[in-house]
Amino acid sequence: MYLDFTAAQKELRQEIRDYYRTLFTPELQRAYDAERLQMGGPVFRQIVAQLGADRWLGLGWPEEYGGRNMTALEQFIFWDETWRARAPLPVISVNTIGPTIMQFGSAAQKEELLPKILRGELFFGVGYTEPEAGTDLASLTTRAELDGDHWVINGSKIFTTHAHDADYIWLAARTDPERAKHKGISMFLVPTDAEGFSCTPIYTVGYERTNATYYDNVCIPKENLVGELNGGWRLLTSQLNHERIALATPGPADRVLHEVWSWAATLRGPDGRAMIEQRWVQHNLARARAGLEALKVLNWRSAWSLTNGTPRMEEASAVKVFGSEFFVECYRLLLEIAGRSGTELTGEPGCLFGGLLEHAYRSATTLTFGGGVNEVQRDIIATVGLSLPRSRR
Ligand SMILES: Cc1cc2nc3c(=O)[nH]c(=O)nc-3n(C[C@H](O)[C@H](O)[C@H](O)COP(=O)(O)OP(=O)(O)OC[C@H]3O[C@@H](n4cnc5c(N)ncnc54)[C@H](O)[C@@H]3O)c2cc1C
Repeated sequence: MYLDFTAAQKELRQEIRDYYRTLFTPELQRAYDAERLQMGGPVFRQIVAQLGADRWLGLGWPEEYGGRNMTALEQFIFWDETWRARAPLPVISVNTIGPTIMQFGSAAQKEELLPKILRGELFFGVGYTEPEAGTDLASLTTRAELDGDHWVINGSKIFTTHAHDADYIWLAARTDPERAKHKGISMFLVPTDAEGFSCTPIYTVGYERTNATYYDNVCIPKENLVGELNGGWRLLTSQLNHERIALATPGPADRVLHEVWSWAATLRGPDGRAMIEQRWVQHNLARARAGLEALKVLNWRSAWSLTNGTPRMEEASAVKVFGSEFFVECYRLLLEIAGRSGTELTGEPGCLFGGLLEHAYRSATTLTFGGGVNEVQRDIIATVGLSLPRSRR
């Protein structure tokens, strides 16, 4: 059986490719490349606002919220092409927090926040992880206490990506320490200009910025609670499920493979033969290509389940585990071909592919634990997907 997009989906893919080719003038590309690792900033905001104005951000949103009501498959095509073009994709706002507000937010929150998200004007950082609460998120200790018509927040978070440039932190805080761990958590919208909020940078192995965030008697209006009091766990898991789906699209690796492939086809050794004629090079390229094809199909299947109205958590986990581990292996195979020049940093003499491969390899590991560690994703696949019994510890 040969699986492929429909004619309309291929047309959409071409339209998006053409769009990014026109949008990214050399000047804009340079400006964004200079800002890229900061994970936010004026160029990021300018591009995302343009995506909003051109109605790309609402591709998968329901019409009642100003979206274009397309299916998860078309949304996947958009994400994949956006990553391939190395354009900024506000996944957190548009694909995870937006839909969670649609489901759980108050009428006022929907009216105020959703149109701004769709226009690409409103950005969030996700404040879940704490130094002592990562995988075991239900152990979080940041407190929110009601004082008259305000919530007062105290505590700290780690790895709050985008916090330095975001408008709000989507914060999980403990509102009832007496209840069972995951039943005493609520979700809040914390404006990043609130007094008592601060953040400091953390630079990852890929040099991308994330943050530690601090909440020192931060006062926010009572109405900034999202969903039910002590009902935050449902919102948090809903947001994470949305996030996981968008994590491992093949576009970026496909682009790097294409670059290495073309390079190996033109580079000639002293005997006049192209590098690509060597068996081991062909072998590495073939392994990378085969993995990418498998990843594509896994992504399509997950998007198809969503389109049919049956989102399957274990499928999203399988895409995330396979994709994140495959990326590490794929870039390693390609680095073997590129050799030493492939490991030169962007801008250094002799650097190949503008440093794309070197950076992709260095960043890839992060995804094996970001968005939920792969060990736990494997547990989900085993228990939810394969109905295996939970292990007793
Ligand atoms: C670059 C980056 C960006 C991030 N962005 C955000 C963000 O924006 N917002 C946010 O809230 N968080 C964010 N995170 C946090 C991320 O989600 C956590 O790192 C992740 O959930 C793991 O938590 P931890 O780092 O505390 O590791 P731990 O939970 O301490 O896990 C460490 C290791 O222990 C093992 N382990 C732990 N628990 C289990 C288990 N139950 N079963 C089997 N093995 C286990 C695994 O090998 C795991 O890799 C980010 C992290 C990084 C690195």
